[in-house]
Amino acid sequence: MGKTPDFDTLAVRAGIARTPFNEHSEALFLTSSFVFDSAAQAAARFSGEEEGFVYSRFSNPTVTAFQERLAAMEGAESCVATASGMSAILSCCMALLRSGDHIVSSSSIFGATVQLFTNVLSRFGIETTFVQGTDPAAWRKALRPATKLLFLETPSNPLTEVTDIAALADVARHAGALLVVDNCLCTPALQLPLADGADLVIHSATKYLDGQGRVLGGAVLGKREIVMEAVFPFLRTAGPSLSPFNAWVLLKGLETLRLRLEAHSAAALELARWLESHPKVERVYYPFLESHPQYALAKRQQRAGSAIVSFDVKGGRDAAWRVIDATRMISITANLGDTKSTITHPGTTTHGRISAEARAAAGIGEGLLRVAVGLESVEDLKVDLARGLGQ
Ligand SMILES: *Cc1c(COP(=O)(O)O)cnc(C)c1O
Repeated sequence: MGKTPDFDTLAVRAGIARTPFNEHSEALFLTSSFVFDSAAQAAARFSGEEEGFVYSRFSNPTVTAFQERLAAMEGAESCVATASGMSAILSCCMALLRSGDHIVSSSSIFGATVQLFTNVLSRFGIETTFVQGTDPAAWRKALRPATKLLFLETPSNPLTEVTDIAALADVARHAGALLVVDNCLCTPALQLPLADGADLVIHSATKYLDGQGRVLGGAVLGKREIVMEAVFPFLRTAGPSLSPFNAWVLLKGLETLRLRLEAHSAAALELARWLESHPKVERVYYPFLESHPQYALAKRQQRAGSAIVSFDVKGGRDAAWRVIDATRMISITANLGDTKSTITHPGTTTHGRISAEARAAAGIGEGLLRVAVGLESVEDLKVDLARGLGQ
């Protein structure tokens, strides 16, 4: 047995199955279905007696290549790709939960995930309790006999709170529940939740796996018996499947994932340090700043800080909006995970529809700004932000 290939090797070589043409780059199979040699073969493929491709809702060679590569990078037995990050989360819940079940979730998660839990799953008899993610005691207190799923993102967006995955895996194990970690911000380049004891990893591939703002995609990763025997059958039947074209784009994104995440992280740390020293900035949120409340945990759990830097501007909403409106380069959008840096005012965009009290309780202040640091020069980012911050 040879050595197991390293992460960098897997990122460019895992999942390749060449066609008889021996193409060097990964092939793109834009086909909805596959043909059979005979009626007997068709029957064998449909019954699962014979392995092989049937229909791209549930199997396509380009999608398979993406799944195998991402599984290798995340250290997962199995991976199923989905049409988006939200369909990955939905597929997980539909596959693993039934009416009467209960979810405990960190309150610092993606807005659409909160909506899915509170407005959609609730209609099917699935209840969710939200807790302060960084406090393991709060998770324990929220557990019920019906709790089947613990859900978290770390670091969180926009405040970059870091949750101890190993500690939460322990809580989940004792409760007989599954721990699901949305690894969107760190990706396997910086953090491996499954190695820390998580049962499932979720990805919005739309963000850093593509990393260039081109396509939507998602994935669910974990043990074969959960992913292939529960999540895949749901996907096969319900159809929130990844398109082959998007899978091909994402495959190429994975090849540069570590290089990009390290560059994003280095730039974000430099920008965070600069903001922290700026007289018009009240507070900076970035996991690899010594001032971050979970700095030690972040250093232990993540290889770098990733790209999200948030900061409170002195002077509240007016001052924060001035910073946004004075930018000439940074894109004003709530999206993230792109080569192009983006800036947003969470209080009036991503968190604008929750009550002022709920916002305050979540720590989203009126002066809070979030920058998702791209791959431009940090000096140019500073110039763009300094204009609105003034002296
Ligand atoms: C964007 C995002 C999602 C949803 O992904 P889509 O691909 O937009 O459906 C889920 N979780 C996190 C943390 C995200 O940032």
